[in-house]
Formats: sequence, structure tokens, C-alpha cells
Amino acid sequence: MAEWQNVIRKRDFPMIAQGSCEGNGMVYLDNAATTQCSRPVLWALEDYWQHQHANVHRGVYCLSSKATAAMEETRQLTAEFLGASPEEIVFTFGATDGLNLLANAFAAGELKPGDLVLSTEMEHNSNLLPWLEACRRSGARLELVAVTEAGNLDMEDLRRKLERKPRLLALTAVSNVLGTVNPLEEIIPLAHEAGTAVVVDAAQAMRCRETDVRALDCDFLVFSAHKLMGPTGVGVLCGKAEWLDRLGPGRFGGGMLRELNWPEAAYEAGGRKFEAGTPNLSGIAGLGAALEYLQAVGRKRIAAYEKELLHHAEKRLSAIGGVRILGAPEQRAGVLSFVMEPLQAYDVAMLLDKKGFALRSGRHCADALHARLGLSGSVRLSPAFYNTKGEIDALADALKEIGSVSRKAGIPVGEKTRG
Ligand code: PMP
Repeated sequence: MAEWQNVIRKRDFPMIAQGSCEGNGMVYLDNAATTQCSRPVLWALEDYWQHQHANVHRGVYCLSSKATAAMEETRQLTAEFLGASPEEIVFTFGATDGLNLLANAFAAGELKPGDLVLSTEMEHNSNLLPWLEACRRSGARLELVAVTEAGNLDMEDLRRKLERKPRLLALTAVSNVLGTVNPLEEIIPLAHEAGTAVVVDAAQAMRCRETDVRALDCDFLVFSAHKLMGPTGVGVLCGKAEWLDRLGPGRFGGGMLRELNWPEAAYEAGGRKFEAGTPNLSGIAGLGAALEYLQAVGRKRIAAYEKELLHHAEKRLSAIGGVRILGAPEQRAGVLSFVMEPLQAYDVAMLLDKKGFALRSGRHCADALHARLGLSGSVRLSPAFYNTKGEIDALADALKEIGSVSRKAGIPVGEKTRG
């Protein structure tokens, strides 16, 4: 184990280092669902509630000004993290919330009957259902770009669909099931040539890929803090300034009104136009601490180590008779899913839990992808930088044992692939 990794495990993630779940050992490998908060994030949350809690942009008193300044500082920090400007940052309640906000804004003011909206077969439901509903409401049509057998986005299908000049392409940076890294550097210019705006779901990408929205030139990008060692209930929607100016607010309430000249209402400019109501202020403090933490550990170092870990997992799991890893994308990051037929994914995850491994089973909110793969579910392994190769080795041993015990019980796990 690298020295830096040993330090951060013990110092910043005691639960990971001790492996505790109600007193039992546990290896946490479900980081695509959510990550554990680092200690600096927990300190920031406590500090917020003890020394900073007041509503923002509303009071003239000292504490409210302090809370407002802290939130705006996090906006600045988030903008720097993404390579955007602070006016382009909208605080949301998570990636799903950001996508709904966008879809509502598009449905209300941008999409017209007959318009085409594209998403892909590998999306999380959070990047499908908001667009499906937005299309239903506006009379636009949603089509999905195909995924190849290997789990890559079908670029030919994308090119063909772009010829029809869709209004919008909403796609993930990294698949939460296959780990496919979509070639955004290639896709975004193609979409822009067709006059298509691009929404990037970066929920799975922010931790393991360095993301600069200017370099990418995406129109919108969303993520959640809880997949970055931050708290739940807070996220970011980053949008190009010209888009944020052009779109309607998507939702309405306190904090986003500039002037009311009844019944005419004028709204705040920039990101604040989209922040109706009281934001998740403690969450935003936690988000700021999470971003600072990732910078301090080093995003390049995190990305390189997580890549190494995933590669190790791929090597170990693919050598186990009966384990079938889903897809073989050109580039994979963050997650690896597999099946152990004829065992159900649910049963494999339950058996792993009994052995102290926390992995998720099911469709991982990617129903369209599982339908495409002809599967009712899969088991997902998603290590983060606080995990170790030793933990992956232990998981591989546990899977081997599950296979051999099943075979002894007459369940032919891997029988077809053996020999
Ligand atoms: N998109 C992707 C690719 C995801 O993996 C997830 C979380 N599983 C989401 C969107 C939704 O994130 P949240 O639940 O934090 O809103």
C-alpha cells in the first residue's frame, strides 16, 4: 500500500481503515452509489452548524453575512475546480436535482413539438426520466444513442442521429454500470457542429477524471457531492453563462427574485436565478471541504491510483471461473459490473455481504442499459482511492469460494466456461 494511501485511510476514513459495520468487518466497495465522508468534511459540517448557521442573501446581521460569504466562497472554489466562472455555478440538491432543473427549464422555454432530444442507452435513470418527461410535456421526442456489444457509445449511431439536428444531447461522462468513459472531447464538437447543446452527467466522473468545462466546452455539467467524499443532498449544475441567461429559472421562490412589479417578476442573473428557496447550506460547506480535500490529496494521484485498482480488479475477477465482467469498453473508470450466472446478482451480493463485502446488486438505476444487455441485474464493484489491492484480492477469493460452494451444491456456476 502506498504511504499516502495508508495515511489517508487511517487519518481521514477510520471506518474504511477499521472495516466496521455494526461491529463486523466490512470492505466498502460501493463508491459509485456513495462515498464515505472524509474527516475534513465532517469538521466543516460541524463548524457550519456551530459557528455559521443562518440564512443567506437575506439578513444584514453579521451571522447572515458570514453564511453568505462562506457560500459564495464555495461557489468560487467550485468554479475554480471546474474551470468555470462563479456566475456559472448553481448549487443544487444533487445530480438528479440538477438534471430535473435543466429538463424543466428546457421543457418550459426551449423545446417545441417535433424537436429531437438525444440521450443514450447507458444513462442512469436520472439522465433519462427528466428528459422523457420534458419531451412529453413539450411535444419533443427523446431518442437513445445505442451502446455497442463492448459497452462503448455507438459513434456511428450518434453521427447518424446528429444529422437530424437534435436540440440537446444528454449523456454521461462515465457509465455507472460498465465504467465506460465516453470520449467527450470527440462527442461535444460533433454535437456543436450539429447545433446541439450538450448536458454532461459527471456524477461518476468527478472523482476519477479531471474535468475542465472550458476545455470540454460542454454546455451544462452536473454532479453530486456525496460521490466525492462529501455530504448527501447537495450538488452542482454548471452551465455556460449564455445558457443560464437564456433559460427560464425552472423553479420559483425566495432568493431568486430581483424585482417584483406586480404581476411582472424579474429574476436574479447567473446561477442564483436557479436557486429558489434556502439552499442546503451545511451541505455546501461540506462540498467546499470535499473539493479542497480532493485537491489536497491530488486529483491526478487519485485518478492514477483508482485506475490501477480497477485494472487489478479486472485482472483478478476475469480469472475466476463463472464471473463474467460486463462490457470491455475502450476506456473504463470507476466501476466494474459482473454476473455469476446462473446465480442471481442479488444472491451474490447477499453472499458477499455475509463475507463482509459491501457491493451493490440490481440494475443500478440503469434500466435501459440492463434491458440492452438482456440482464435482470448485475453486481457492481466500485473501488475508491481509500480501497486497496489487498481488499480486491480478498473479494476475488470470496467470489471464488462462492463459485465453488455453489458448484458443490449442484449450481453450475461457470461450468460452461471452465475447461
Ligand atoms: N448519474 C449517474 C451516472 C449516477 O451514477 C448517479 C448516482 N447513482 C446519478 C446520476 C444520480 O445522482 P444522485 O442520486 O446523487 O442525484
